[in-house]
Amino acid sequence: MNKDHSPQDAEQRIEQMIHRLRERGLRLTPQRIAVVRILATSDEHPSVERIYEQVHRDFPTTSIATVYKTVALLRDLGEIIELGFPDGSNRYDGSKPYPHPHVICTRCRTVVDPDLNGVQDLAREVGVETGFLITTHRLDFFGLCRACQERDKERHEERQGKTAG
Ligand SMILES: [Zn+2]
Ligand SMILES: [Zn+2]
Repeated sequence: MNKDHSPQDAEQRIEQMIHRLRERGLRLTPQRIAVVRILATSDEHPSVERIYEQVHRDFPTTSIATVYKTVALLRDLGEIIELGFPDGSNRYDGSKPYPHPHVICTRCRTVVDPDLNGVQDLAREVGVETGFLITTHRLDFFGLCRACQERDKERHEERQGKTAG
C-alpha cells in the first residue's frame, strides 16, 4: 500500500465520485465539486466542519447542510470512509475508499494512514478462525503523535530548567 496519492489517483477519485453523484441525480454545483475535491485530495481525514471551512473560503454562500448532504451521500455510496469516534465526531477519507488501518492522536486528533502490509491476510485469518464472511474491517491505533510528544518534552524541559535555575 502506498500512502502517497499521485495527482492522477486524485483525479480518478474525483471523476469517480462525481460520476456516482450524478447517477444519483444530485445537481453538481461548484460547491459540491469543491467538497468532492477536498475529500479526494486531503490526507488529513477532514471532518465536515473542516471541509466546510475550506469550501466556504471560495464559495461564501455555501451552507454546512450542503456539505453534510454531499458527504452523507458519498458515504452511503461507499465512495468515502467514515471514521466515527465515541464523542460522536466523524472524520472522512475519500482518497482510499476501502478499509485500511488508521493511527489516531488522542490529543490533537491527527489521523494518519500507516503503511502496513498483511492487513488483508489478517482479515482472511479472522474469517477462517471465526467462520465469519468478513465484509469489512476497522483497525485503529491510538496514541500521541510526534508533534504532541515534542510539545510534552519541551514543557518537561522548561519545568526542569525552572527547578534547576
Ligand atoms: Zn497529536
Ligand atoms: Zn485513511
